Order: sequence, then structure tokens, then C-alpha cells
Amino acid sequence: MSNTDDGSRPVPTHARSLVFIGLERSPPYILESSKIPSELEDGEVLLSIELATICGSDIHTLVGQRTTPNPCVLGHEGCGVVVKSSRPDVQEGDKVTWGICASCDNCQFCSLGLSNKCENLIKCGHVLMKKAPLFGTYSTHIRCPRGTPIVSLPPALTPQLAAPINCALATMVNAMSKIPPVPSPGERGASVALVQGAGMLGLYGIALLKESGFSKIYCIDVNLPRLSKAAEFGAIPVHPDQAWPYATEPNEEVIRPDSVDVVFEVCGNKDGLPQGVRALRVGGTYVLIGLVHRDSRMNILAQTVITKCLTLIGVHNYTGKHLEEAVKFLSQHHDRYPFSSLMGPVYPLTQFRNAVEAAKSGRFFRVGINPQ
Ligand SMILES: [Zn+2]
Ligand SMILES: [Zn+2]
Repeated sequence: MSNTDDGSRPVPTHARSLVFIGLERSPPYILESSKIPSELEDGEVLLSIELATICGSDIHTLVGQRTTPNPCVLGHEGCGVVVKSSRPDVQEGDKVTWGICASCDNCQFCSLGLSNKCENLIKCGHVLMKKAPLFGTYSTHIRCPRGTPIVSLPPALTPQLAAPINCALATMVNAMSKIPPVPSPGERGASVALVQGAGMLGLYGIALLKESGFSKIYCIDVNLPRLSKAAEFGAIPVHPDQAWPYATEPNEEVIRPDSVDVVFEVCGNKDGLPQGVRALRVGGTYVLIGLVHRDSRMNILAQTVITKCLTLIGVHNYTGKHLEEAVKFLSQHHDRYPFSSLMGPVYPLTQFRNAVEAAKSGRFFRVGINPQ
């Protein structure tokens, strides 16, 4: 099954991939073998996938809440080993993660530092195979096209720790870059944050906020097991039923109005927006991250945003710079938080249906796919 590549390293001739073929088919995917060319395109990198993870957006594709072209190799979260590289900065044998947005580095958005919104964007796990043949992670191999950020992983970051870096963690690093710097101790008292949602984004957000100096972080979610995980990460867990009406006395368990510096929305539920706006102090910052779907019309008063002098910011994906910071952050702090407890069961590609069912059950923060 292997070529020899200029006598040095064997390169596989074929990849086996889970290909999305459209919702009118049942199941909407097939396991397919496809040829790997012996020569890579300019700027391309071929990787062998060590571990992939199922993200909520993959489930959205499979249940029709998100439009994905087909045929397309599904999956975007994962990590792998470089098999062959046509880039001088990426070496064969390197363990790496990669950015989900391959960009042109040439258009107006790339020059504005928004390569995640590149006019010629190629998005991992959401691209037609004829445009980028193997740019998805539910596959033995992935071909990262030119313009894909690729970052080496230190040995301490096991595949279980590293696989979700290139979606949830890098996105939250981008979210952190949008908030004002935390004042130094004594300058203006404590910094307080509210994280709406205790999923993968929320937990990474809690760790990032803590390490940047926030002294109090509330996390709100309807799911009690998730809330207790948020508490393990150091947040004050709050169930929505407890949060309102506001306390008249300061209370660790209840979020007071006009008291929070920063709110991260990572729950995808628009009904939390009035609550976030009420919790923010004058001049506070609201970062919207999770509401990436059509049922997201905002039910807040512009008047309140204006009179409280709030800043509302949207964050979608991230750039290569954020991915590098994400790898650095996890390398430094992976043993200070229970990150390794976030990985649920791992399935082979042949059991993709079971993996999807496990992911849909909501019992695990992440379900893994080992395609080898
Ligand atoms: Zn994702
Ligand atoms: Zn561009």
C-alpha cells in the first residue's frame, strides 16, 4: 500500500475517509478510499491523523442545522504526524495541530488580520473534495492546503489533550484577545467574568480567564454535570434558576446586576442575552461566540447597551496567531486543570455511527475518532 518517496520515507498511496454525501441519503455519509498523489501541491502538507474529535458543528451538519457542501470529508478537530511536507517550516515526523481556516494571505480581510474571514477561505471539514480533496479529520490522512496554519505540539500534549485545540481552545484564545487587559492587583479591585455555557468552549474560557488574572468567574448552565465540571475548573457554578431575581445582598452563589466586567456567551442560547447585559457593569464587554445559528435574534434593548456604555463583540474562529497561543497556553497549564477528563470514548472510523450517537447523547465533552 506504500510508495517510496525519493528513497527516504514511505508515503501511503490511499487514504480512508468518512465522506458526507448529503442529508437525502441515509446514512448521510460513506466510508471511502481515495488516492493520495505521490507529489504534493505547492505549500501542501500531508498528515497522518492520530486522533480526531467530534465537535457540535459536525453534529449540526449531520442533523441539517448547518449547510455543508458534499461530497466533503467531515471533521475538523484533531492532531497528527507530518508524513510529507512541501513547506520549509514543517518537517516530516513532526507532531502538529493545524488551523481550520486555510487562507490566501493576500485579500483585504487577510491584510486586516482577519484571515479566518479570508475571501478565498478553505475550511477544514466543510469543503468540497474537488476543491481540497482530503481536508477533513475523520480520515486516515489529511492534506492541509497552502495557507493552513500548522503548529508543532510539545511531547507533553498527548493526542487526548491536543485534539480539541484547533477548534474550541483557539477560538477562546481569540475571544480573550478582544477583552480589555485585567487591571493589576489593587488598581481597580477584582475582575469578574460570567461564562454562559459549560461546554468545551466554556471550560477553556474559564481556564484562560483564571490564568489572565480574573479573580471571580461565574459559569451558568442548565446541565448539572457540566456545571460541576466548571466548578472543577475553578468557576462558581450557577444554575439559571438560581441566578435571578438578583440578590439584595452580595452572595457567592448569585450574580448581582451591574457587577461583571466581561461576559462570554458560549451556550448558543439567545435567551441568555438579557441576563448577560443585566449582569455587566457600566463599560463592560460582552463577547458573543456560541450563537452561530439562525435562531439567534437578539432580544436586548439597544438603549441599555448605549446607556451602560457596553461593548458587544462577535468572535468567529481564529487565526494562526491564536492557534500558536493556544498550544503555548495548554503546554503551560495542562496539569493545572482537569483537561484530560474531557475526553470520552474513542471509536474507530468503522463505528462512526456509534461515535455520533455518543456525541449526541451529551454525556461527554468530546467523543474521539481514531481513524488508524
Ligand atoms: Zn469545532
Ligand atoms: Zn485572504
